[in-house]
Amino acid sequence: MTAAESDVPSEFHAPSELHVPQGQAGPARQTTAYLKKLFAQVGFTIDARRGQNFLVDLNLLDLLERSAGITPSDVVLEVGSGTGALTERLAHAAGRVVTCEIDPRLAQLARERLLTVDDIGGDLVRRVELVEGDVLESKHRFAPAVLAAIEEACSQQPAGRFRLVANLPYCVATPIISNLLATPRPFDTATVTVQREMGERMTATAGTHAYNALSVWVGAQCRGEVVRVLPPSVFWPRPKIESAIVHLQLEPARRALIQDLGRFHDFVRDIFCHRRKLLRGVLVRMAGGKQNDASRDTVARVYEIMGFDESVRAEEISPDAFVNLERVFFEQRSP
Ligand code: SAM
Repeated sequence: MTAAESDVPSEFHAPSELHVPQGQAGPARQTTAYLKKLFAQVGFTIDARRGQNFLVDLNLLDLLERSAGITPSDVVLEVGSGTGALTERLAHAAGRVVTCEIDPRLAQLARERLLTVDDIGGDLVRRVELVEGDVLESKHRFAPAVLAAIEEACSQQPAGRFRLVANLPYCVATPIISNLLATPRPFDTATVTVQREMGERMTATAGTHAYNALSVWVGAQCRGEVVRVLPPSVFWPRPKIESAIVHLQLEPARRALIQDLGRFHDFVRDIFCHRRKLLRGVLVRMAGGKQNDASRDTVARVYEIMGFDESVRAEEISPDAFVNLERVFFEQRSP
């Protein structure tokens, strides 16, 4: 331990039972061999239910970090610290890092890794806030401790951007992105590995096979691209499916056109429950039912204002048109 470590935050006290194997220049790089040795030494067994698939291709760790465009004034949120390999890189690149890990055994390994690699006199460790626990309080809510840590880090770095950069646990990747986009302070950029299918959905355009409610929710607020499709072999253990690195850039001016984020989210979700049905019938039901003259009149006015064809379906409507549709629908429905 360096002398400066006596000053590091209390959550970074050196763990007593686990020890990261060290070479001369700190812990080895995260390869399959390194992880197997480390986990055997500390008696760690992987919990597949928690999406513990570690990124072991070092070029892709580079690509993930590079694609995020992190600067020293930025705040980065990482969900799933794992053994701390990505956390370490993020801490070198950013002003502050908030990292959250649900598995206490991994949280301890990540802490020890950061202490071991801290070659800048405790500064690296001081930049990292490790929140141990579930990043989600519920399916629809971020853990308050994580939100508070982000708030605190952003107040320390007022000139920086807030970036989500993570090899996300697949089981909770959708609620992580969706819930962040529902908060008053969403990310400026998100650069994440997710299931390939989810990556394609988040970046899909109207009329394509992948287009769904998530495409609209993300597409109405962000510009997005799939940076790279990843085969299972770049992770250990190998997942059964392909993954992708996805980059999202928040577009605040477009986001500001959404009058009520919660209402818009639920409107899109409800409409996509019937994505193959004609939109008119779905809207009439949402407006009060087809037995009701007022509902049919409301939807007729909405169609006229929107200039919709009778045969239009939800999957053909772009995210921006959805934002207009939602506003017009609620305006016309109000007495
Ligand atoms: N960052 C590491 C890497 O790139 O190799 C690990 C990524 S691994 C795909 C996902 C990590 O997220 C695991 O360490 C897992 O324990 C953690 N995790 C899973 N569900 C979580 C949750 N709800 N909240 C916080 N961490 C979670």
